[in-house]
Amino acid sequence: MRLHIDHDVCNLCGRCVEECPYNALEESQGRIRPNEKCNFCGACVETCPADAVWLEPDAAEEERGARGHTGVWVYGEHHDGRLHPVVFELIGKGRELARARRCPLEVVLMGHGIADVAGQLAGLPVSAVRLVDHPALAQYRDGPHSRALARLIAQFRPEVVLAGATARGRSLMPRVAVLCHTGLTADCTALEIDPLTGNLRQTRPAFGGNIMATIITRDRRPQMATVRPRVMSTPRRDGSAAPPIRRWTPADELMADAVEILALEKTAAESVNIAAADVLVAGGRGVGGPEGFELLRRVAGLLGGEVAASRAAVDAGWVPYSRQVGQTGKTVQPDLYLAVGISGSVQHRAGMQSAGTIVAVNTDPEAPIFGIADYGIVGDYREVLPELVRIFEKEAARE
Ligand SMILES: Cc1cc2nc3c(=O)[nH]c(=O)nc-3n(C[C@H](O)[C@H](O)[C@H](O)COP(=O)(O)OP(=O)(O)OC[C@H]3O[C@@H](n4cnc5c(N)ncnc54)[C@H](O)[C@@H]3O)c2cc1C
Repeated sequence: MRLHIDHDVCNLCGRCVEECPYNALEESQGRIRPNEKCNFCGACVETCPADAVWLEPDAAEEERGARGHTGVWVYGEHHDGRLHPVVFELIGKGRELARARRCPLEVVLMGHGIADVAGQLAGLPVSAVRLVDHPALAQYRDGPHSRALARLIAQFRPEVVLAGATARGRSLMPRVAVLCHTGLTADCTALEIDPLTGNLRQTRPAFGGNIMATIITRDRRPQMATVRPRVMSTPRRDGSAAPPIRRWTPADELMADAVEILALEKTAAESVNIAAADVLVAGGRGVGGPEGFELLRRVAGLLGGEVAASRAAVDAGWVPYSRQVGQTGKTVQPDLYLAVGISGSVQHRAGMQSAGTIVAVNTDPEAPIFGIADYGIVGDYREVLPELVRIFEKEAARE
C-alpha cells in the first residue's frame, strides 16, 4: 500500500497532520509527506477536505491482483451428512463480503460420496460448490484435509477463506494457513471489507473480551478467518436450486497419512450441541456440585432446552467441557439463557451476552451477571428453581 498526496491539490491546511493517530505525516519544504510510522490506516484520506490524499496498491499488491486472487470461500463443515449450522451463518456474511468485492461466493465440501450434502444449499446465495472427493477424506483427519484444502486454494486462488470456529475449524484452518503461507485470524465476531483498501477487516475479542482487535492480512492471500458460531445471522432462502458443483480430486500422494482410523466411538457428550439450543439452563460454582445439576436438568427438560455450565463447574468435573460457555468454551445465542449460580465473569459473558433474554438466579445482589440480565432473581437456586418447576409443570398441564 502507498499513501499518495497530490501536492498540486493539497492546500497545506494541516488537518491530516493533526488527525493522524500515528504522527506519520510531516510538513517539510512546503509539502506534506508520510514518514515510516504510516500504517495506511486511511485517517488522513477521510479527513482531507481537498481530497488530495488517497491510498494506492503497491507493486506487490498489484502483482497479487494479477495472480488473480478472487472469490470468497466458505468451508462447508459437515457431520453425518448434515452441514454444521455455522456454515449457513458464514454464507450470510460471505455473501456480503463477496458483494463488496464483486466476486463469487463458493462453498468447499470435502469428504467421500457426499455430493448429496450440496442439496442443503438450495435457495442460498452461493455461486458454486467446490466438491473435493477422495476415499481418504471419508473420515476427518487433519493431515489429508489440510493438504487437500491448501492445494485447492493454491490452484484456484480465492481471496478470502472462512470457516467456523468449531473444534474442527480451529484444528484445520491453522494448518491450511501455514501451508498457504498466509495469516489466519481465529474466533472472529465481525468481518467487513475495508472500502479504501479492499482488505478484510477481521475483528475478534482480545484480553478476555475487554477490547476488540481488528486485524488485517495485508500482504498475503487468501485472507483466512474462523468465525464463532451463532454470531452472524443466517440468510433467508429463496426458491432457487442448489448451486452447481465443481468437482476436484486430490492426487493420491497428497492423501497419504501417518494416521489410520481403526474405529470411531461417539460419546453422549459429543452429540450435544449447546450452540444450537434455543433454551439453555446454565449452572456455575454456586450450584454446589453435580447433584445440583439434576435440578437444572429438570428445568431444561421442561423448557425444551439443554444444560450448560460455567468453566468453574466444568473444571470441578460436574459437567463435561462440551457444555462450557464462554471465552474458552462455546459462544451461544439462545432465545433464553437462565444463569444459575454464575457470577458473570467477563470470560463467561463473552460467550452468552448476545442471548435473546437473560435470566439470572444468584444469592448475591451485586453479582455482575445482574448487570446484563433482563430479569434477575436474588435468591438461593434451591428455593427458586423448585418454584419455577412447579409453575412450568402447572403451565404444561394446562396446555
Ligand atoms: C483465560 C481465561 C478463560 C476463561 N474462560 C472461561 C469460559 O470460557 N467460561 C467461563 O465460565 N469462565 C471462564 N473463565 C473463568 C472465569 O474467570 C470465572 O472464574 C468463572 O466464569 C467463574 O465461574 P462461576 O461464575 O460459576 O463461579 P463464581 O465466580 O465462583 O460464581 C459463583 C456464583 O454463584 C453464586 N451462588 C453461590 N451459591 C448460590 C446459590 N445457592 N444459589 C444461587 N447463587 C449462588 C455466588 O453468589 C456467585 O456469584 C476463564 C478464565 C480465564 C483466565
